[in-house]
Amino acid sequence: MSSTLRFQVVGEAFGKKPVYVPNCTERPSEFFAKYVFNRQKMFKYLPAKVYRKMCDVIDNGASLDLATADAVAAGMKQWAMELGVTHCTHWFQPLTEGTAEKHDGFVEHDWKGGMVEEFSGKELIQQEPDASSFPSGGIRSTFEARGYSAWDPASPVFVIGDTLMIPTIFISYTGEALDYKAPLKKALHAVDKAATAVAQYFNPEVKKVVSNLGWEQEYFLVDEGLFAARPDLVMTGRTLMGHDSAKNQQMDDHYFGSIPMRVSMFMKDLEIQALELGIPCKTRHNEVAPNQFELAPIFEETNLAVDHNMLIMGLMRNVARKHGFRCLLHEKPFAGINGSGKHNNWSLSTDTGILLHGPGKTPTDNLRFVTFVVETLMAVYKHNGLLKASIISATNAHRLGANEAPPAIISSFLGKQLSDVLLALEESDDDKLFNLSGKKSMSLDIPQIPDLMLDNTDRNRTSPFAFTGNRFEFRAVGSQANCAAAMIVLNTAVADALTDFKTRVDALIASGMDKIKAIVKVVRDDIKTCKPIHFDGNGYSEEWKQEAVRRGLDVESSAPLMLDQYVTPETIAMFSRMEVMSECELRARNEIKLETYTKKIQIEARIFGDLCVNHVVPVATRYQSQLIDNVHKIKDFFPADEAERLSANNVELIRKISSHTSFITENVDKLIEARKVANVLEDEREKAIAYHDTVAPLLESIRYHVDKLEMIVDDELWPLPKYREMLFIR
Ligand code: ADP
Ligand code: MG
Repeated sequence: MSSTLRFQVVGEAFGKKPVYVPNCTERPSEFFAKYVFNRQKMFKYLPAKVYRKMCDVIDNGASLDLATADAVAAGMKQWAMELGVTHCTHWFQPLTEGTAEKHDGFVEHDWKGGMVEEFSGKELIQQEPDASSFPSGGIRSTFEARGYSAWDPASPVFVIGDTLMIPTIFISYTGEALDYKAPLKKALHAVDKAATAVAQYFNPEVKKVVSNLGWEQEYFLVDEGLFAARPDLVMTGRTLMGHDSAKNQQMDDHYFGSIPMRVSMFMKDLEIQALELGIPCKTRHNEVAPNQFELAPIFEETNLAVDHNMLIMGLMRNVARKHGFRCLLHEKPFAGINGSGKHNNWSLSTDTGILLHGPGKTPTDNLRFVTFVVETLMAVYKHNGLLKASIISATNAHRLGANEAPPAIISSFLGKQLSDVLLALEESDDDKLFNLSGKKSMSLDIPQIPDLMLDNTDRNRTSPFAFTGNRFEFRAVGSQANCAAAMIVLNTAVADALTDFKTRVDALIASGMDKIKAIVKVVRDDIKTCKPIHFDGNGYSEEWKQEAVRRGLDVESSAPLMLDQYVTPETIAMFSRMEVMSECELRARNEIKLETYTKKIQIEARIFGDLCVNHVVPVATRYQSQLIDNVHKIKDFFPADEAERLSANNVELIRKISSHTSFITENVDKLIEARKVANVLEDEREKAIAYHDTVAPLLESIRYHVDKLEMIVDDELWPLPKYREMLFIR
């Protein structure tokens, strides 16, 4: 437990669930980052020379020598031991979506029969975890199981409980990335390089461009006891069966509603612990569905924001248990109500401000703003299929295109004002735009944009990639996903678009064109090119699907086929141009995603089959026997014609139950058969396609009959907690 927190337990005496009330008297500014070895701590615990060197490593990517690492490790150890830390671990993000860690004690022999606490620079910078238990997509051959984890000094070290956590990348013996962080760092480097070069057109002082990410994490809470009684939730994170609750979200009374006491105490506890770990939590509220909530921090540099999101997901799960809840991060835990996403608010900034922030005070500022917006759109346009592939998973597939979340087509909403600006620029001609008599008198005819930020009111919730004032909001990311998958693609694609932009502008300048005129010309060309990605209408409508096909956007709706985008020639060329991932790494990632897709549905199908055979059908049959019994008794008791009339209802129910149970039994057999057929396929792509096309649809069609039975069978007999019980925390 965090040392800032003391707890008071209230409510128990009244026979209610205990509520743990965090009792924290300190202000956030006093305990923020208490457990983080940030610059403040470095300054205090490291010699001045070492501190300066570390700043150079973090800010400018200078290389870290072993002597410096040793000095840093010594300072870190001292700080950590003052907090009671006894162990350390490299903390990395393998391609399982979760995080991994292996703890080592600080202990070493003193060779005099005793022990000393040791923590060296070498242990800080590198470890060799066995990579064989992590997905590698064929990169790691079985005879070479070694993997390396290497410290990422840009992500500060932190303490959880008795352990010093060291954020690391994770690569194979042969140097290929086996994680999300390694390619993310390369993507961020690529976008920094490309965006800095373009930003210098407008301001030669710009030295560095940073990519920012502000995620909004949605989640559900359910009571721990009810959760434990649902094997499907326990094993797959979602309910595979369950009839709608009569009341769910139709009254719109949950969104931004008041937060139940037990939940708000959970949130408070979570926030305090998150703040102590340096996660700048800011916003919390109820979401649309009952029991659904959201947490959002202030945005941060993307690499750090990704770490913090991984950290908070773990923290949420742990803290929830203390409060008698289970935290569900699955994208669609309950059918019929909204699922959970993780909006990724993304922008680029320099130390002088946000590049996507418009309008500027001067025409040059405005042109800078428009350039970065348009080149982002170019990136999204050229790689819309790949962006979709970056967020798709077996679990997120339930959400996309389901009229509650972004459709399974990537497009961008710009809002009226920005659309007008782009249109004006596209349709203007240079003679009007420029007064070429003298460079200084250049006037840029971009309509005056009011000071009030663009489109804060004009929101379009159906757009997967919406411009929201000073950033783009990528809304299709799944709630349990590692944001890095989307951020790697987005940042690399934007880096590539900016690089290409600069090449074309420079060519025009070299041919003698004025710089601003050259920029305007290329921007204008690009506005025309990327037009198909711009869509401000209703993304949920049928017409949009047709229109998107006409525009040549990716409209693939099968998850395994969406993943093909990882290995198209365009994708491979882009990642290699930007030096972010090799073809081999992309093929591996594609294979791992396919494998994960298959496994998820495989597990669901098995649990679902078991539940049908062991829970649903036996219980329905038992209830049916009771009804049959009752019909017999009525017959014994009443005269024949009266008995017939009185038992008609039950006879009808008996028939219905039979028809549902026989459908279920027959189709569970088909489900098993479909799995067997799919399982023998050797090719991961074929197998995932088979699971998508033949196994997943059976889960849905059988579920319909199970849910019907739930409505018929005596509530006392029904073995699983129902939606109406799970969805309303009191
Ligand atoms: P909403 O739900 O209305 O979209 P929230 O306040 O819940 O808004 O979340 C907005 C998120 O966007 C926050 O994490 C915030 O820090 C982040 N954000 C704001 N400005 C930027 C920006 N320029 N770049 C990246 N993220 C940003
Ligand atoms: Mg948002």
